[in-house]
Parts: sequence; structure tokens; C-alpha cells
Amino acid sequence: MEFLDAVAAGFAPPLCAACGRSCRPEAVICSRCARRLAAAEPLLGKGPPGLDRAWSSAAHEGVARDLVASLKFRRLLPVAGLIADRIHWLAPAHMLSGTIVPVPPAALRLRRRGFDPTGEIAAALAERLQAPLEPCLARRGGGRQVGRRRAERIAHPPRIQTRCAVPRSVLLVDDVLTTGATLSACAQALRAAGAIRIVAVTFARRL
Ligand SMILES: [Zn+2]
Repeated sequence: MEFLDAVAAGFAPPLCAACGRSCRPEAVICSRCARRLAAAEPLLGKGPPGLDRAWSSAAHEGVARDLVASLKFRRLLPVAGLIADRIHWLAPAHMLSGTIVPVPPAALRLRRRGFDPTGEIAAALAERLQAPLEPCLARRGGGRQVGRRRAERIAHPPRIQTRCAVPRSVLLVDDVLTTGATLSACAQALRAAGAIRIVAVTFARRL
């Protein structure tokens, strides 16, 4: 009956951003996916070279992987808020200080998609932490990572440059930590420009 009312009123019932089943109004994901995501273990480690620490809220599998895809490819923006909430609630407090710097998108991909998923997550996280947001990094030229093999990605890291003054204490934000080549390249550019402390948080980590 509720479903028919919704259809009659011209509103599609809300669908889970991860599995596509119907879910509570105003919820981004269904309760089943929420339980699965809640059970996923965060990962903390030294991280790729150049970083002081790296923390990821979950392995890149199951619901976490589906959410990354729905933000990236279906542009479901509320997912960025859900991802920021999970980072905000679960990351150790000592990780969540400093100025938030998003890992920059490849220019071509940004043009094609018209939005930057990592930038959306970083902005949502800055809002929750009431932390400053400083998109001070940019990619130079090619260095496309998606579709490259792991060994190629490590051998050809993206070229990152700073485009304005960098903060001394940086909280780098990315959606997925894969080989770490991109985070390392960001850390290198930041250190060269004077950053002292660099930690990274990502929503997911490919194991
Ligand atoms: Zn679901």
C-alpha cells in the first residue's frame, strides 16, 4: 500500500545505494547493508612511503566496494555523507587532525564525470570535523591509474604538484587506497612544499 501511494504520488521508493533493494525513506543504505558495513573492520598501518600513518574504514569488498562504485559511477552524492560519517565515527581521534587535503582527480576524469567523488567526501568530512579544507594538490599530465596493472601503477606513479601554500599538518583524504602510489606521490609533493605531518584516511582499502 505504501509503495502504491508512493508511486501514485510520483515518488519512486528509496533504494539502497549499495544493493538496490528498497530501504527506509531518508536512509542511504538498507538495514542489511548497514549491518554488514558496521561489521567491517577498519585497517590502520604505517601506510605507503612518505606518510606518517594511514587508516582505512574497511576493506574494499562487499558493501564498501558497492558504495564506492555508486558514488563514482552513479553519482549518488548522499553516499559521500555516509562515507564521511563512517570515517568521522571510526577513525582514531589522533588521525583526524590537521587540514583536510583531498587527493586530486585526474583532469580528464573530472571533466568526464563532471564531479570529483573524493572532493565530495573530503568536503563532507571537513564539515563534520569543522576542519579546514585545502585542495592544494593537482595532477600533472597523464598518469592515469585506473586500468593499469599493479606493477605499472607503482612504476608510473601519478605526477602531483602543489598549486598553493600547503598546511604543515595534513589529513589526506581519498576514497580507496590501492597500491598507495598516489598517496605517496601526494605526500612527496606536500613534504617538498613544507608539510611536516601527513596522515591519510580512506574509506576503503584494496587488500
Ligand atoms: Zn542494501
